[in-house]
Amino acid sequence: MEFDLSWVLLGFPFVFALGWWASRIDWRQWRLENSQAPRAYFKGLNFLLNEQQDQAIDAFIEAVQKDPETSDLHFALGSLFRRRGEFDRAIRVHEHLLSRADLPRDDRERARHELALDFMKAGLYDRAEAAWAELERTAYAQEAALGQLVICERWHDWPRAAALAQKLLAGQGQMPLTHDLARNLAHNLAHYLCEQAAAAQEPGEKLALLEQAQARAPDAARPRVERARLLAAQGQPQAALQALAELPAHAPQALPLVACEMVALAAQCQALPQTRALLEQSYAQAPALDVAEALAQACRASDTGDASQQQARQIYVRHLEQTPSLNAAARWLAGAPIAPPETHAAVQRAVERAARPLACYRCAACGFTAKTHFWQCPGCQAWDTMPPRRVEELDK
Ligand SMILES: [Zn+2]
Repeated sequence: MEFDLSWVLLGFPFVFALGWWASRIDWRQWRLENSQAPRAYFKGLNFLLNEQQDQAIDAFIEAVQKDPETSDLHFALGSLFRRRGEFDRAIRVHEHLLSRADLPRDDRERARHELALDFMKAGLYDRAEAAWAELERTAYAQEAALGQLVICERWHDWPRAAALAQKLLAGQGQMPLTHDLARNLAHNLAHYLCEQAAAAQEPGEKLALLEQAQARAPDAARPRVERARLLAAQGQPQAALQALAELPAHAPQALPLVACEMVALAAQCQALPQTRALLEQSYAQAPALDVAEALAQACRASDTGDASQQQARQIYVRHLEQTPSLNAAARWLAGAPIAPPETHAAVQRAVERAARPLACYRCAACGFTAKTHFWQCPGCQAWDTMPPRRVEELDK
């Protein structure tokens, strides 16, 4: 058999090259590098579960450096940065993800959504609006519409907020609304229309907007209350009182806010007995301090005689028997001089001072406290989170 040496000569450089390549590979190193990325990932996860966010971030940065192609790690890292208030770092992580040409469509949309959340948290609303706009035809369409709504609220662009809410309620979004979301949106829409009414110049336009708000959310208190106040300001006490008398049937929780206004209107229209009966009925269902105060005012307004004054004080006593209230005690004390007069003044001052902070309103969502009631909390910007009851009544 003939042995062809030319094959050996040709194969020799190939075998040599193979050997050289094999010698360059450090197999132990290769295995180590491959196992380090998940190890760093699990380390980060472990820190996260132990609420050690600083260490978790270090571990995730290490994991991302080892495996820059993994988008999940970037998402975890970006979300951690955002939660810690490091918005510029969160934005950088998500922008880096978006700049990758090989990113699948789902991850691209997710990254844009995360970026919109970063901008919102950082207060960069113009950039957030652009990010939300790019999500309009994606799986995040509903969130994008709600995000844009929040931006309209921050900018006090009430007509656009109303239009967006109406569009969502009309079912023009891609996802169906849940019952709670639809109800909240209807109530928010009523607030947007009320804000527009407050800014409107023409009384006719104001009234039309308030009526529209009431029709949109019949169980919302604000359109009814503001409509009644507008009618009262226009010199129509009878119509204003009638509007407020409908409140117990639709939004009974708001009656304490307007109980004293109702008594003043009733006094103008000679309708004190009916209003007192309505307030008594409301008080029997929910004994609110402001309704008790309104009942006492109604007693004083109906007759200036001693018997009526005594009856008015008796209303505070009845309230005190039901609930320990410093405000009721202060009001009772104001109409009941105790001897000697200088002692009375000192005791009344002390009780009124102690009662003052308890007469505030407080947001149930963020704890913001104010002397006056707000439909939108100035602290957390949420609507209807300030119950129309005094702090003293909330802490029972
Ligand atoms: Zn709040």
